[in-house]
Amino acid sequence: MLPRPINDVLRPAGSARLIRVAIVVSKPSAVISVIGPGTFYDKIHHRRIKRFGSISKALFNVSDGNIFVNGRNTKSSHIIILSDMPQSIRLRDKFGENIVYRGRMDIIAVGNNSLTIVNTLPLDEYIMGVVPRETFPAWPAAALRAQAVAARSFALTHILNGKGKEFDIVSPNHQLYGGASAETLSTTKAVLDTQGEVLTYNGKVLCAFFYTCCGGKTEEAKNIFPSANKYPHAVDSPYCKGTKHYSWSFSIALENCSQKLKRAGKYLTGRITTVKPVKYFESGRVAQIKFSSKFNSVVITGEECRKILGYNNIRSTLFKVRIKNGRLQFVGRGWGHAVGMCQWGSKVMAEKGFDYEQILSHFYPGTKIER
Ligand SMILES: [Zn+2]
Repeated sequence: MLPRPINDVLRPAGSARLIRVAIVVSKPSAVISVIGPGTFYDKIHHRRIKRFGSISKALFNVSDGNIFVNGRNTKSSHIIILSDMPQSIRLRDKFGENIVYRGRMDIIAVGNNSLTIVNTLPLDEYIMGVVPRETFPAWPAAALRAQAVAARSFALTHILNGKGKEFDIVSPNHQLYGGASAETLSTTKAVLDTQGEVLTYNGKVLCAFFYTCCGGKTEEAKNIFPSANKYPHAVDSPYCKGTKHYSWSFSIALENCSQKLKRAGKYLTGRITTVKPVKYFESGRVAQIKFSSKFNSVVITGEECRKILGYNNIRSTLFKVRIKNGRLQFVGRGWGHAVGMCQWGSKVMAEKGFDYEQILSHFYPGTKIER
């Protein structure tokens, strides 16, 4: 019997929409194991490299643009691992834990010495590995369902924009994804309860942004993502008030702050003497902030300030800042860019009895849920 053409072999049965998730990007090596039989393919030369019974440990690295497996040169820059059984491919993460993935795994050489790993699987199976990472499995069902629909919409826009690229979406940069290892009963049920449902706005699938906590008001998309034109407007959202990420504070020594600014190419001569937001968005978030010394000053955007001082330190741009005892003291509300759905607000709404459609229409006003 002739072997099946490679493209048939690589496509799972049915018409499920697939997503290509980059789970390792431009790293020197990766360790993969497979519990059970499968096949290595060479995507470049359209050939089967070998069948295997199982793989206890395969170390992948790249030299001169060729992928090596346990030191053996495959003479290819794109290897595919396909397993006969679902959920049998495991990739070792940076903590040394083996994470189980559904679907297939592509190992792609990047430049001379790096590799990228792309996990390809049906969209809804991917979302099953996203919802438990973006929420908590113990959250009420309506919040989990809202997260499933938002994450699916966000992912689908990346699929639609990903044509011609090696992958559609990056984990964890775009949204968190924990593979099959992350799946739980409650979160998988939320994915199945909302199977195929996405948000649309003006007839197009919405790139449904979300984040941890808005601090009382969401943000206009155009203020954060200039390319996001025609986006649902910001809303007042009192629901997250009092939840664990509603307030934050951070302080940093003035000298330390100057160094961080300098590293980002923002030079101040001498000690910082004043720090002042100079422009706000309507929501009250800092649009621009000015750092001054006796000699000069620099103005950066609120989001640049988060990037330079650390996204987990300056958790939002909804802050006040002052200088005291040689330190910059920030006090703020919320965590994240605040465009779209506030995750902790959605949890509180669900506890108050709102269903997932109501949660989604609160955070994404004017949208519809469609299949
Ligand atoms: Zn909120």
